[in-house]
Amino acid sequence: MIIKIINRTKFAGFFCCLVLGVVLIGARVSTDNGVSFSIDIAQLEDKNNIIPIAIIGSGPAGLMAAVYGAREGVYTVVIEGGTPGGLLTETERVDNWPGGIGLLGADIVNDVKKQALYFGAHFLSDTIESVNFNQWPYVLHTEEGKTLHALTVIIATGATPRRLGVPGEQAYWGRGVSSCALCDAPFYKDEEVFVVGGGDSAVEEALALASVAKKVTILVRKGRMRTAVSMHKRLKGYSNIAIRYNTEVQKMLGDDTGITGVELFNNKTGKITTESIGGVFLAIGHLPNSTIFHDYIETDQVGYIKLVGRSQATRLPGVFAVGDVADPIYRQAGVAAGHGIKAAIEAVKFLRDIGCSQSLMQELSTHFFVL
Ligand code: NDP
Repeated sequence: MIIKIINRTKFAGFFCCLVLGVVLIGARVSTDNGVSFSIDIAQLEDKNNIIPIAIIGSGPAGLMAAVYGAREGVYTVVIEGGTPGGLLTETERVDNWPGGIGLLGADIVNDVKKQALYFGAHFLSDTIESVNFNQWPYVLHTEEGKTLHALTVIIATGATPRRLGVPGEQAYWGRGVSSCALCDAPFYKDEEVFVVGGGDSAVEEALALASVAKKVTILVRKGRMRTAVSMHKRLKGYSNIAIRYNTEVQKMLGDDTGITGVELFNNKTGKITTESIGGVFLAIGHLPNSTIFHDYIETDQVGYIKLVGRSQATRLPGVFAVGDVADPIYRQAGVAAGHGIKAAIEAVKFLRDIGCSQSLMQELSTHFFVL
């Protein structure tokens, strides 16, 4: 994508902008798919439902972006999505959020939401179903039929861990069934656990669990692992890690305390067995929730949004991505929160750079989206 500098007439005396440290008189964007549009505050005159900082998603990344955006005095709206608070709300005990032990995931996100509300952020209980990033301000369409015009967009839509879809999985999710060993391993001290999957994540999860659990067995559905040889080698030297091939989980069993066992199917011998277990960790891949942005923003093969350098910026000016939708590596609430902070700082700077001064924002406020 190229940002071209063009000469433009001034709008209300505010149109001098600074991008990437260079004073620009307007900016024209040519996207990778051949579309060209300008970022020009003069275009805002006839727009309504304007949102200076629109945040899509309300997990730790989106919420911390809201705290920082609103605290900077910028009109900030979080479009909460179908699971307000995100995946963390499904976690019953969180020990690795800054400053707390034994926290309920839902309490963490509620507290950060309260903080964002305190600084004046707005929350829309709706979901973005499509976007148009081929024009500026960027257009967001909600499921409930609203059309929003965003000067900046912070994408915080997360990634969905793939699930097996077997009976009992949903019932014991967060109560013995997990997709994050880094988050939950310490709860399995001296227990026997299964890791399901045959890729690099399965190895990482097993290694994270091995230092805590009594025994870790990786269940691989095929006769071999998909993981790279170098990753596989890392399992050597861990006497409490075993691998079982041709093994599929058919059912998860449990009681009021959570998961207690699984029904396994050996697809080579056809044998079905029931085994007691303390926990099951799924490492069968994640699906970044980026589909609605694919026509506009570059992603990797899996769908994780690509970022520019060490920033949270995408290659589309004023569009940022934070948290798990842009993070195939760490996938931690604390990391996501940090991304949110970075993106909000960058979004505020972008707005200043295109000429959105305090007085222009004041002038524009009658055109803002109001809940
Ligand atoms: P992958 O897609 O690489 O692997 C998923 C694994 O889960 C496969 O073995 C697959 O089996 C198995 N699987 C999928 N569905 C089921 C199911 N229903 N039942 C049982 N098993 C199932 O995902 P990863 O999360 O492991 O990795 C994603 C990407 O991230 C990869 O590119 C990986 O290299 C990278 N990564 C790199 C790391 C590193 O370098 N440190 C760490 C973690 C990830 P099958 O093979 O039969 O399809």
